[in-house]
Amino acid sequence: MLSLEEAQARILAALEPLPFESVSLPSAAGRVLAEEIISPMDLPAFDNSAMDGYAVRAEEMGAASLESPVRLKLAGQVAAGGTFSGQVPPGSCVRIFTGSALPAGTNAVVMQEDTRPDSELASSKMPPSILFLDGARRGENVRHAGEDVRQGAPIGAAGDRLNSGRLALLAAVGLGEVRVHRAPRLSLLATGSELMEPGQPRNAGKIFESNRIMLASLVAGAGGVPRTYPIVPDRLEETTRALEQAFAESDGVITSGGVSVGDFDFVKSAFEELGGTMEFWRVAIKPGKPFVFGKWRGKLFFGLPGNPVSAFVTFLLLVRTALRRWQGLAEVTLPSHPGVLTEPVTNRGDRRHFLRVQVDAESRVRSVGAQASHLLGGLAAANGLLDLAPETTLPAGATVRVLQWEG
Ligand code: AMP
Ligand code: MG
Repeated sequence: MLSLEEAQARILAALEPLPFESVSLPSAAGRVLAEEIISPMDLPAFDNSAMDGYAVRAEEMGAASLESPVRLKLAGQVAAGGTFSGQVPPGSCVRIFTGSALPAGTNAVVMQEDTRPDSELASSKMPPSILFLDGARRGENVRHAGEDVRQGAPIGAAGDRLNSGRLALLAAVGLGEVRVHRAPRLSLLATGSELMEPGQPRNAGKIFESNRIMLASLVAGAGGVPRTYPIVPDRLEETTRALEQAFAESDGVITSGGVSVGDFDFVKSAFEELGGTMEFWRVAIKPGKPFVFGKWRGKLFFGLPGNPVSAFVTFLLLVRTALRRWQGLAEVTLPSHPGVLTEPVTNRGDRRHFLRVQVDAESRVRSVGAQASHLLGGLAAANGLLDLAPETTLPAGATVRVLQWEG
């Protein structure tokens, strides 16, 4: 049986890169850059004010103070988005607002709170002059052109995920489109003659299908595009047809159920019937041992066990790995965070056990309770997985690393 690391390595080795595509910036959220991006402009593009106040020449402010204010003529104003035409005459100031372009001739901004209109017409909108109650250093309250980003500087590297901050940066330098890795499309099939669509009365002996919705959320959370197909009954012919259609419309197929050794487990034979190559079956993890991986005409096949927790864990440990690499990300393993056990945990088995745990805001880690692979209550409550080595007990108070996921 393969170790988890061997299985992950085999999957990564089988993966064929997806083509790049250019997409509009708003559609690029969460995507991964295919190439380096060079800033086409300075950011800020021009010197501008960091405050609402008055643009001045610092040299003219002297030792302005409450007791001996400096008086400057008001030469005009620059509203947001506007500009001041010409040079500000000596002895004058210009009313300015946060983000407004600094008028030519000025080199500092005095904030409004340190000024007073100097006029019997103080209530009018444009008093003839302004009293300054505080001095200013050159450059004070000025945001300088290029201080954030210089034209020609790299502002994104191939492999960077476009998170909110980077999207804002790319928008701020005026980019409308970016070249990114294509988002992998994954078809989701659920096999099992016992399965029914939720949202209708349940028939005796049947259960409501719950893996596709779970996997769709996980696929989307990991940056892929899920596509859900109708439930497939446990019959070879129908399973083969369903697989064929699912492959035709995606980069890879995820099935759940039908990969064990039961009389009605047709997924492996259907995949081979279709001409797929089985790369491996079974991984030394719990839950999720009967996981299948194969290739069909350059596309990937992930056969997940049907038990919901097994499907969940094998997705995170094996399918997500491929999804991440397909998108051009270097980091493909689940992120983990340290936590402290509030209770002892034990793995008596001979496979690594990925326990469902709850981590609170103080990083205290507890088991969600019973750990059987059909238990959805615990899965819903879990926000972490604890990788517990075979034949191991960890005491309360032990520091552990907890794996976490998106979606
Ligand atoms: P299998 O892997 O097909 O042997 O299924 C193992 C267990 O998981 C059985 O109890 C199935 O009824 C259940 N199961 C399989 N597929 C699903 C599914 N899509 N949704 C909910 N339970 C499932
Ligand atoms: Mg089944």
